Amino acid sequence: MTDWTTDDSAELYGIRRWGNGYFDVSARGELTVRVPTADGSIQVALAEILDGVRQRDLRLPLLLRIENLLDAQITRLNEAFRNAIAEHDYPGSYRGVFPIKVNQQRQVIEEITRFGAPYRHGLEAGSKAELMIALASLPADGSLIICNGYKDREFIDLGLRARQLGFQCIFVIETPAELPVILARSRALGVEPRLGVRVKLSTTVGGHWNLTSGERSIFGLSISQLVEVVDRLREAEMLNTLRLLHCHLGSQIPQLDDIRSAAAEACRFYQELMNEGAAMEMIDFGGGLAVDYLGTGSSDSQSRDYSLAGYAAALVETVMTNLTDPDRPPTIITESGRETVAYYSLLLFNIFDVTRFDPAAEGLIPGPEAHPLLRKMASRLERIGAETPQQNYREIVACRDRLHELFTAGQLSLRDRALAQELLLAAGRRLLRQSPGQQLPADLQTLREDLAAIYYGNLSVFQSLPDHWAIGQLFPVAPIRRLAEKPQCHAVIADITCDSDGRISRFIADRGTRATLALHELAPGEDYVLATFLVGAYQETLGDLHNLFGDTDIASVRIEADGGFVITREDRGDSVADLLGYVQYDARELKARFRATAEQAVRENRINLPQRQEILACFNAGLDGYSYFET
Ligand SMILES: *Cc1c(COP(=O)(O)O)cnc(C)c1O
Repeated sequence: MTDWTTDDSAELYGIRRWGNGYFDVSARGELTVRVPTADGSIQVALAEILDGVRQRDLRLPLLLRIENLLDAQITRLNEAFRNAIAEHDYPGSYRGVFPIKVNQQRQVIEEITRFGAPYRHGLEAGSKAELMIALASLPADGSLIICNGYKDREFIDLGLRARQLGFQCIFVIETPAELPVILARSRALGVEPRLGVRVKLSTTVGGHWNLTSGERSIFGLSISQLVEVVDRLREAEMLNTLRLLHCHLGSQIPQLDDIRSAAAEACRFYQELMNEGAAMEMIDFGGGLAVDYLGTGSSDSQSRDYSLAGYAAALVETVMTNLTDPDRPPTIITESGRETVAYYSLLLFNIFDVTRFDPAAEGLIPGPEAHPLLRKMASRLERIGAETPQQNYREIVACRDRLHELFTAGQLSLRDRALAQELLLAAGRRLLRQSPGQQLPADLQTLREDLAAIYYGNLSVFQSLPDHWAIGQLFPVAPIRRLAEKPQCHAVIADITCDSDGRISRFIADRGTRATLALHELAPGEDYVLATFLVGAYQETLGDLHNLFGDTDIASVRIEADGGFVITREDRGDSVADLLGYVQYDARELKARFRATAEQAVRENRINLPQRQEILACFNAGLDGYSYFET
């Protein structure tokens, strides 16, 4: 046995770096979730939760939502601003709104409004559908709803009526074309609007989503459009309805300096609008609060170089230094989506098969009558242990290439070709053993990845981790058990879609990233389960139905102060019939057609009637089944 400890596993998978205090490893080697309680915190093993969920007939892959984490994140966000405001003696206040697009699932929005109620946390809507969600989810007692996005007459009518009902519903003007419609509908319905303006800042930021920043941003008013909107409002004697300045530089902004500069510029716009005579009350800094997926606390685009407290303090300080009128301190608003929901969901999936690139133990010694190239490979293999290992390895590769040509030309048998492959794998392994942790020359750089095992995961990257596929976003991955054992196998994870893009082949490492993940050798029949973390933001509705793998089963749990847990919701994922329905196949019609095919086979005596029954039962069960690998 090794002297490997659970701390080594925590370090290897980075759990304490990206976990935000929510995830850890127990002494028994199980991955745990830790949630705050009234007098401290409590830890529960994910494996224990999974067992409880499976006993209720939910299946893997499973999206697990832990309500306590959402509650904790909303609390942390609001408390961070409360503390910053208290520390700086800021005379104004903070209101958070959750941007619905980040996770629109009904249960998520319901929980956000429930946990956010003590802080009067509001919602941000970017479309008519999202406004309807907001109106149905929040109480009409001054709840804050910020309406971004392009607004047609229907959207505007609904938002104005919402004000009549008692919602604090604010239209953020994205383009001057919206204003005349808002003014006309306001007159027609006799409801005064509350308005904001979204400005394009000239500050540009780092990170992946920086196209929403800078003057070429597709969103928001240019400087001359802003002047035009102010003039029109003044003409209509409606300048007093302009209350909010909005800016949004994009999501996942890694550097606090960028946030500070942008906020300072936004404050200048705010001041100028006050000078113009607008009745300004709120400054909305949009989203951008980043999640540290890598756990490096750095300015990498998938990390952040600041804390939540640092973010809140930076915004409060910037407002205080730039907007100094003590009688009119703006309410500070943020639309933090990613940070609010990322931690809350994780995806559990099992490994259903493994392909290894290891040589078989025996049969590596070509006999005296074997092809000379095979014998040469074997002799070079011996020498890898001694001098110039890399040179010997390259010669082995050259022999293998030549043998492939001979195979194609019909001059080498299947078994000899297999032997060549084995010798090459043995050579690769030996070379890696020879140079552990060493930098290999450029042509051999990918050797470690080339020899990595492929673990087949029961998930669809396209459905459950779309940002990993689309933009290379990394999500932490780790096994949920066996963390007291040293993982011996370097692996990549292929998904079930049979698409070469359906894979996880970049992982977080202690500094930066790596191409393989250390995993445990599977014991025969073992149920080896991995978890992908921080998937609560953006992944759920971006997911697509590639190869017709659909929504996974979902379980929501609430962890109790005594360490027990309650499963508050179970949702079964799409059946095969559901998925076929999305692409316009009708399950009943499919069954009827297949029945006709079976009937024909009976008539032609290819199958008998009991066989027909069996075949149809199999087809029907398939339609009702889960789209993923069922065990
Ligand atoms: C997407 C979006 C957000 C959310 O940004 P996060 O970085 O996820 O917090 C906020 N406001 C607007 C206008 C957005 O488009």
